[in-house]
Amino acid sequence: MNYITRELTKHKRIALVAHDNMKEQLLKWSEQRLEALKLHHLYATGTTGSILSKQLSLPITCLFSGPMGGDQQLGAKISEGEIDVLIFFWDPMNAAPHDPDVKALLRLAAVWNIPVATNIATADFIMDSLHINETYQTRIPDYHGYLAERVK
Ligand code: PGA
Repeated sequence: MNYITRELTKHKRIALVAHDNMKEQLLKWSEQRLEALKLHHLYATGTTGSILSKQLSLPITCLFSGPMGGDQQLGAKISEGEIDVLIFFWDPMNAAPHDPDVKALLRLAAVWNIPVATNIATADFIMDSLHINETYQTRIPDYHGYLAERVK
């Protein structure tokens, strides 16, 4: 696989997702990070986004609820270069009915080199990173080159 560079702007497109038992954690964390989060464009799965936007008055683009396709919508957005950061507090103690979708979302985040936080510590590290409020040259797969190679 060859790679190309894409510039992420200062205002990141951040996706927020939490499984049911983790929603409280994400809500508290988002409240603590409210001013920092306001500098970015926020996306979320349906229930997570509705709770955060209602409780914190944050403008959030809400996709479908995770089990109803929201994780897959986020995965598609990552592939299309529309999400820069994924904060995903998945529940390590309970099985989810949409586990294949969760796995697919995490896989696509890895494919497209998206920073992913799956817990508070990593979310803190990401938000405190120099890169979060600056432009950043990220390395992504050269999709057009990949396709050209496959069809020749
Ligand atoms: P929800 O989806 O925000 O609609 O609860 C999250 C998930 O389960 O992936």
